[in-house]
Order: sequence, then C-alpha cells, then structure tokens
Amino acid sequence: MKAEIVSVGTELLLGQIVDTNAATLGKALADLGIVVHRRVTVGDNHERLLAALHESIANADVVFTIGGLGPTQDDITRDVLAEAMGVPLRFDEAIGRRLRSFFGSRGLELLESQLRQAYVPTSGRALDNPNGTAPGLLFETEGKIAIALPGPPGEFGPILENEVVPYLRSRSGGRTIRSRVVRICSMGEAVVEDRVKDLMASDNPTVAPYAKTGEVHLRVTAQADSVEAAEALIEPVVREIEARLGSHVYAYDDEPLEGAVVRMLREARLTLATGESCTGGLLAKRITDVPGSSDVFLGGVIAYSNQAKVNLLGVAAEMIKAHGAVSREVAEALAVGARLRFRSDIGVGITGVAGPGGGTPEKPVGVVWQAIATADRVEAEGNVYAGIRADIRTKATQTALTKLRDLVAQQV
Ligand code: AMP
Ligand code: MG
Repeated sequence: MKAEIVSVGTELLLGQIVDTNAATLGKALADLGIVVHRRVTVGDNHERLLAALHESIANADVVFTIGGLGPTQDDITRDVLAEAMGVPLRFDEAIGRRLRSFFGSRGLELLESQLRQAYVPTSGRALDNPNGTAPGLLFETEGKIAIALPGPPGEFGPILENEVVPYLRSRSGGRTIRSRVVRICSMGEAVVEDRVKDLMASDNPTVAPYAKTGEVHLRVTAQADSVEAAEALIEPVVREIEARLGSHVYAYDDEPLEGAVVRMLREARLTLATGESCTGGLLAKRITDVPGSSDVFLGGVIAYSNQAKVNLLGVAAEMIKAHGAVSREVAEALAVGARLRFRSDIGVGITGVAGPGGGTPEKPVGVVWQAIATADRVEAEGNVYAGIRADIRTKATQTALTKLRDLVAQQV
C-alpha cells in the first residue's frame, strides 16, 4: 500500500509549529509496512489544498490529511477533501447530538459553525475522537482511501492508535507486519551498511539502516499471515546481523545504550561514578534517565573549573599545568578521582573542548578525552568530534557509554 501525507496549516509553513503529527504518523505507517512516498505541507488555502489532494490521491492508495477539521473559517480540510475525493458529505445526527450535549453540559453556546464538525463522508465513516469535538474522517471509494485527522496531537494520537491502525491492519488482508530493531554502537553507518548490504536487498524481511548520533539502527521488518510466521522470517536475519557485527550489537528495539549499560552493570554487580567536565553532567543524566539506575550509579561530579577538578576529584594541579585540562592525563585522573571519591567499582572521566570557542591549533574544538578506571587499570580514548556544541557533548557521552559497555561485556 502506497501512502501520501498532506499536512494542512499556515502555521506549519510559517514555522510556528513543527509537524510532530506527520512524524508520529510516519512511524506508525512504517510499523504497518505501509510505504510513505511523499509528505506535503500546504497552508489553509482552498485552491492549493485541492491541488495537493488531487495529486496525492492520484499517486497513492491511501492519503492522510492532518489538521483543519475544527470549526473556524480556516478549517477547510473536510470540505476540500470531500471535493477532491468526489464524495459528498452528510450531516450525522448522532455526532450532531453529541456536539449539542458537549456544549450544553458545559453551559456553552453551540455556534452554527461548530455543527460543521458533524458532517461525515457518504462513502466512509467518522473516526471516533474521545478527546475533542471534531471526529476523524475516513473516505472510501473505488481503490482510494483518504483519512482526515485533527491537528491537536492529543486528539490525533489516540485516533491514530485506536481507529486508524486497526483499520489499516484489517485492510492489509489480515497480514501482520512485525519489526525488530538491532542497535549497533562503535561502528560507522557506512561500515554497517557494507557488512549487511546483501541483506538489505531482500524485500521480506526488509532491512533498513538508520544512523543516529554515535550509533546505527537496523530495522528488520517482515510481513506474514501470522505473528509467528513474521517472527520466523525476522529471526534468522537478526542472527545473521549478530554474526556479522559481533559485539557491536548492544541491544534490541527500544533499549537505549544507557539502558543496556545499566542492565549490564546490574547483571555484573558493578557500581559506577562519573567525573565530567565538558559534558556538564550529560553522562550522569543519561544514566539516571534509566529507571532503576540507582542499583548501579552512585553519583557524579561536574568538575567544570580546574579548581573543581583539583578540590573535588583530586586531580593534581601540576598535572593540569603540565598537560592542560583537556588531556589524556586529566581524563584519567577524573575517572580515578570519581571512582575513589564515590568508592565505586568503575569511574568515568570526560574532558574536552565542546566549542564554539576555546579551540587552539593543538586542541581544536571537538577534542574530547574519555577515560574509564577500574581497580586495576585506567584507559582513555581521545577523539576529535565534528559538529556543534550539542553534538560534541552527545558524542562524548556516547563514546563513554560504549567504552563502559565494552568493559563490562569483557568482565562477564
Ligand atoms: P487545526 O486542526 O489545523 O485547527 O490545528 C489545531 C492545532 O493543532 C494547531 O493550532 C496546532 O497546535 C496543532 N497542530 C495542527 N497541525 C499539527 C501538526 N501537523 N503537528 C502538530 N501539531 C499540529
Ligand atoms: Mg489549522
């Protein structure tokens, strides 16, 4: 099934709001194995919306519209979509009654314009919206489907989940679509792709890469007549990916790298403490985002100034003078200091130049040292990351988490 999405709203074009609904919809359709060929955004303008809808209806099997179903003058999606689909609307008595009682019970006046929301396609139906006044709309004609969803995300999401997904699933002929995400760290996207290129040529299951900051995801998606049959198609491909990428595979589906690290530390009964400079606590934040991280995480110090590094984590002032605050030596001393101060099994230290200022020819913006200390050794890795300040900081924590994961994986 081919899909197109038409987002409607001048506020989207002006950049006043971001199209989060289209992102939510894209993910839901990917899970269903429905391919989205195009996304279009148009303002609240009759002529341009009609042209966009004609085009999308001609191109796709199913067209989604987002927004413009409310009662105000600029909410034109219902009428324009009916025109483009060639499906007249009819007044739905039950929805009309619901609107009257909704406004009546709140002591509000029901304006004539509110009743526009009670019009539904003569070929199709309304999609129940328990969180608002405008229902979603389903238009069905020979071979074409159009689905109109309201803009407010709190209405959009539940209708998508409770009405649209079950409908689309039933339309896919009882076939089921399952996905598994294989999460990979410390390997670049080009290398990952090179290793699994032949697997990506298959169309059931499909294997699709997704590059994130400091990691790569491979989504394996299969269609079959049952959940078991879909899983049976996915399983050998996931095994093959594991065989080819080895320990670079750190988790599956929704478990983030920090989640995997906390889980592995818990299994190994190891505790952790952090001493961070340029990441300003981001590593500790990511670790403590994981529920239950208190089992393994004892605490962290944001040692931003040289003084703090010396006073709070016992870094030697002479060492900072000799090597600079951004150096292998200081990263190691931060890791050792955190470990000793918190009496943890493992200490992590991070120091670097996050930019945009502060770079020198020897230590340009993006230089970061990440160190890990245990009772018997300390080791550091230096990198020069590309990107803006936020990227550099994220990448530094990603490297630290990857090193932690590798260390714990070796210990068990
Ligand atoms: P509308 O349905 O066009 O009247 O939109 C109502 C409200 O829903 C807007 O003011 C936005 O706050 C929100 N909204 C509309 N379209 C979107 C969208 N595509 N993504 C996220 N929020 C939206
Ligand atoms: Mg609007």
